[in-house]
Amino acid sequence: MISEQWGELKQRICQTVGPNNFRNWIEPLEFADVVDGVATFAVPTTFLGNYVSQHYGELILYQIARADPRVRKIDFRVTASSRSRPRQASAAHDPVRSDNPLHSAPLDERFRFDSFVVGKPNHLGHAAARRVAEGGAATFNPLFLYGGVGLGKTHLMQAIAWELVEKRPGMNILYLSAEQFMYRFVQALRDRKIMDFKQMFRSVDVLMVDDVQFIAGKDSTQEEFFHTFNALVDQNKQIVISAECAPGDIARLEDRIKSRLQCGLVVDLHPTDYELRLGILQTRVEHHSLQHPDLAIEPGVLEFLAHRINTNVRVLEGALTRLFAFASLVGKPITQDLTQDCLADMLRSFERKVSIEEIKRKVADHYNIRLSDMVGPKRTRCYARPRQVAMYLCKQLTSRSLPEIGRSFGGRDHTTVMHGVRRIGELRSKDAEIADDLELLRRALEG
Ligand code: ADP
Ligand code: MG
Repeated sequence: MISEQWGELKQRICQTVGPNNFRNWIEPLEFADVVDGVATFAVPTTFLGNYVSQHYGELILYQIARADPRVRKIDFRVTASSRSRPRQASAAHDPVRSDNPLHSAPLDERFRFDSFVVGKPNHLGHAAARRVAEGGAATFNPLFLYGGVGLGKTHLMQAIAWELVEKRPGMNILYLSAEQFMYRFVQALRDRKIMDFKQMFRSVDVLMVDDVQFIAGKDSTQEEFFHTFNALVDQNKQIVISAECAPGDIARLEDRIKSRLQCGLVVDLHPTDYELRLGILQTRVEHHSLQHPDLAIEPGVLEFLAHRINTNVRVLEGALTRLFAFASLVGKPITQDLTQDCLADMLRSFERKVSIEEIKRKVADHYNIRLSDMVGPKRTRCYARPRQVAMYLCKQLTSRSLPEIGRSFGGRDHTTVMHGVRRIGELRSKDAEIADDLELLRRALEG
């Protein structure tokens, strides 16, 4: 009988979905019955049923069918009894404490202020988010955060939510994506519960809507959003919005909404710069090193990644995760060669258009030597060092192989190039002057 086994099955599901999702989505399910191969659960709201069905339907069915192979389908039924049950309001992850079945989207454990690295491109956004997270009277309403994908919008918004949930337990905080907003709105229309919907949204203290560009072109959702927005602003409730671009640049968004969105504080998250990327990599490495304490990482590798993967943070994190997984599989330390092997495809796609020729020219200029001496046979230090610096930069900034680089330096052998690259790599961490030269040259070449 499933009814007897449901408790045990739930525990198995918990192992897959994790305790937070479990509490939010699985625990509220009440097993009802199995009729003609359909296992039915009682749920407190249509929204919950739909969400669970979409996200965990297959998993639940799989577990149930293992216990009772006759079950082929699962279904959810909204029932008065489960609806009138008090919701578990104590769980800290569940920011919404109200009698209304208003669920915040689950928050990601990792997206907190203490894991957010602040740098020039995001310091304003971070400061504004911090201010909102204090939970005082709304000083700028709304806070509108925008920026390209993977630059930390969702991270900052959820960090606000976490902070408020923990520090202001009495507050109703609602974080959701614009897509979820629309989804709930459409549900409410279909279930003829639009008054409930309006009332629920007007009862929150802080409303956070992520990726608002999603509602562009969706007229009735925009309309409803506009009314919700105004009602909350009128009550001086804090609103936080994120989008991929500035309010004025969101196509197919009504003008009155655009201007409403602009009347608070509009802050953009700029594309990452080298220092921020390096900072993020360093904190992520600490995290990875906890899981792989035996994996050594060679100096210079993070700098290399921060130079070469000059894109959003998500891609950068992905690269590092892949690198650690690869190194632990092959049981080797993370060296620059291993990095280039492991991330070859990714590095190619971010390849700068810096050529070996340009590097040679810039480096020769910088050290005041002639280009012909750069590639010529002279071996005194005043020529050899710039030559090695140029080789090092070729290795870092292009994806040319050692033999290819050797050929462009007057037909030198690849072992000579390797030696030069190593030498400069070592000097870089010991000799501040070389480190400065390298940084200057890199900027000049990339600029
Ligand atoms: P967005 O919502 O802007 O597309 P996310 O907030 O989802 O981007 O960020 C993508 C990933 O990058 C997440 O894993 C996030 O934790 C991480 N991330 C972004 N910016 C930072 C930062 N400044 N410090 C640490 N991690 C960051
Ligand atoms: Mg996001």
